[in-house]
Amino acid sequence: MTDDACVSSNNPAHELTSVADHRAKVASLLTRTPVETRPLQNCLGLALAEDLVAPISLPPFSNSAMDGYAVRSVDLTEATQDEPVKLPVSEDIPAGRVDVPPLQPGTAHRIMTGAQLPPGADAVIPVERTDAGTETVALFGSVQPGAHVRRAGEDVAAGTTVLTAGTRLGAAQLGVAAAVGIAELPVHRPVRVLVLSTGSELVAPGEELQLGQIYESNGLMLAAAVQEAGGEPTMLRFVPDDVDAFHEVLQTHLDSADLLITSGGVSAGAYEVVKDALAGNGVEFTKVAMQPGMPQGCGRYRDAFAVVTLPGNPVSSMVSFEVFVRPAMLAAAGHATTTRHRRQAVLAESLVAPSRRQQFRRGVFDPVSGEVSLQGAPGSHLLGSLARANCLLAIPEDVTEMPAGSTVDVVLLD
Ligand code: AMP
Ligand code: MG
Repeated sequence: MTDDACVSSNNPAHELTSVADHRAKVASLLTRTPVETRPLQNCLGLALAEDLVAPISLPPFSNSAMDGYAVRSVDLTEATQDEPVKLPVSEDIPAGRVDVPPLQPGTAHRIMTGAQLPPGADAVIPVERTDAGTETVALFGSVQPGAHVRRAGEDVAAGTTVLTAGTRLGAAQLGVAAAVGIAELPVHRPVRVLVLSTGSELVAPGEELQLGQIYESNGLMLAAAVQEAGGEPTMLRFVPDDVDAFHEVLQTHLDSADLLITSGGVSAGAYEVVKDALAGNGVEFTKVAMQPGMPQGCGRYRDAFAVVTLPGNPVSSMVSFEVFVRPAMLAAAGHATTTRHRRQAVLAESLVAPSRRQQFRRGVFDPVSGEVSLQGAPGSHLLGSLARANCLLAIPEDVTEMPAGSTVDVVLLD
C-alpha cells in the first residue's frame, strides 16, 4: 500500500491511529534535553531555559535621542525663529563620555545621540533648530521638558524579567540579552537527530542519473527541517537496503543521538529495510488516519534513541515531519511554543478530500485577502508544489468536500 492509497471499506477507520494519538506517542518518546550555558552567538534558535532578569535598566542612563544641545527647557521659553535665545556652549558631550559635568543655568552643552544627559538638563534641542554654534549657540524655538530625551529605564527596568523561560532566542531576543550585559545564557541543548535514508534507487545530487534512479532529496530536506526546528542533524545517506548493514550504521550512534528519523522503506512492498530492521527492535508500525502520510512508525531503538519512521514519498515525509516530529522536537528542546501559527482562510476554489483521514493539502495563503488557493494535486510525490506552498490546509477527517468560499484552517509554514 502506498501512503496515497485511500482507505477502502475493508480497512475501516478503527484500524487507523488518529493523528492526535500518533502525535502524542511521538512526543512521549522524547525527553527534555539537558540545560547548558552557551555564549550568545551560539544560542540562535534555541529555547531559553530560565527567565532572564535584567541586571541593569535600559537605557542604563538618561541620554539624548538627537544630535543637538542639552538645555534647561525654562531657558528657552522665549525663543522663536525670529528671536532666538543665545546661550554659551560650555561642554561637548560625545556618546561614550563618562565624566559629564552638570549643566549650569543659562548655558547649553553640545550633545550627540546616545550621550549621557548632563545633570540639570531636562531637554535636548536638535541641531537643525540651532545655528550649530560651538562657542555660543542660537536656539530657534522652545522645547518641552523631556523632549528628545530617552529616560533611564523607560524600556526595561533593572530587576524585571526581559525574557521568560521557553522563549525561542531569535535575533531580537539575543539583542536584548546583549543590551542588558549578558554574555551567555542557559539553554536547552539542541535535539541531536540522525536523518537516515535508504533506497537502491537513490543517487546523490550532482551525480549522473540513470533511467530508474532518482536523486536523494528527503535526507537533505529533513536535515534542513531539523535545523530549522533548532535541532542538530546528522545525515546517514545511502544506507544499503540490508538489515545487517542498517544495524551496523545505527550501532555507532547509540550514545550520540536523541532521535532517529528515517524516510521510506516502510511500505508493504518487498525490500522494506527500515521495517525489516526496526520491527523487532522496539519500533511499532501503524497506519495513521492522515493523507499524505499514512504509514508511520515510532518507538525506541535498543533502549537508546527514539525512532520515528516517516514515509518515503517526499511530501508525505515533510508533512509527517511537520505534524509529528517538529512539535515533539520543540517540546523536548524546551520551547514554550511548539506549534506553527494557524489561521482561518477563505478557500479560493472547491476541493474534495478523503473520508476518515485528516488531509493536509499544500496551499498559498494571501494574508491581505485572507484567501488560500491550492498548490498542486494531493499526490504525495509532488515536491515542486510543496516548494511553492506557504501553508498546509488542514482538512478534518469527516470533511469530504468543501466549496469555494468555505472557511478552512491553514498552518502557516513561514
Ligand atoms: P518507499 O517507502 O521506500 O517505498 O518510498 C516511497 C517513495 O518515496 C518511492 O517513490 C521512493 O523512491 C521515494 N523515496 C524514498 N526515499 C527517498 C529519498 N530519500 N529521497 C527521495 N525520494 C525517496
Ligand atoms: Mg524504498
